[in-house]
Amino acid sequence: MLVITENINQIQNEISRLCKKVNRDPSEITLVAVTKTIEIERIQRAWHSGIRHFGENRVQELRAKQDDFKHEANWHMIGHLQRNKVKYIIEKVSLIHSLDSYKLAKEIQKQARKHDKNMDVLIEINIGNEPSKFGIPLNEAITFAKNLEELPNIRLRGLMTVAPNVQDPEQVRPMMREMNRVYKELKQAKIGTDRLDVLSMGMSNDYKVAIEEGSTMIRLGSSIFGYREKGGKDV
Ligand SMILES: *Cc1c(COP(=O)(O)O)cnc(C)c1O
Repeated sequence: MLVITENINQIQNEISRLCKKVNRDPSEITLVAVTKTIEIERIQRAWHSGIRHFGENRVQELRAKQDDFKHEANWHMIGHLQRNKVKYIIEKVSLIHSLDSYKLAKEIQKQARKHDKNMDVLIEINIGNEPSKFGIPLNEAITFAKNLEELPNIRLRGLMTVAPNVQDPEQVRPMMREMNRVYKELKQAKIGTDRLDVLSMGMSNDYKVAIEEGSTMIRLGSSIFGYREKGGKDV
């Protein structure tokens, strides 16, 4: 258990070091602890080490953990979301990272209105154009964002990506740079939102490069909790 605290401290030091290096403010970066397959006691340890954002990629697991979790925290839906499951999470999560189709957006709109809330979302980009991954192509992001303006209960907060899983994270640097370029373009275009401030990219293997390339939200699982035995599917 103590190793979780040590890992978090080390990651936070690393965030500070990298920010200094590229002249960014560490407070710009939110650390989301990815808790898929991780039991509640270890999630609690992360909470006691200062983590307030938790990410899950399965609806059922997210609901079960949230029910058991006694502390105040923000839960993030980071995995592919089926339309028929939106209703189960609409009141449970503070941010949906995985908006990957207009049909899903319409369902989120419908459920958000029903619960009289605005739902914060990120558009998921398949930055490596990998057939195995969800997300829309980067060059469609702006048009997709414009279409979301027709859905009043959806609040677009930014972009998210799961970069290709490579040995050397330097390999994904150019893709992350492209993500940041389009993210900035989106910000400048002021598309239908008052608070576009999230670029969710960077996982355990590539978060350092991601911070250098402008990420504002990193999603870390194994570097906090250690190796995942089962079901550690990334998308
Ligand atoms: C599992 C997962 C992560 C965390 O992966 P690690 O390599 O364990 O840091 C981040 N984002 C998504 C969408 C995931 O599914």
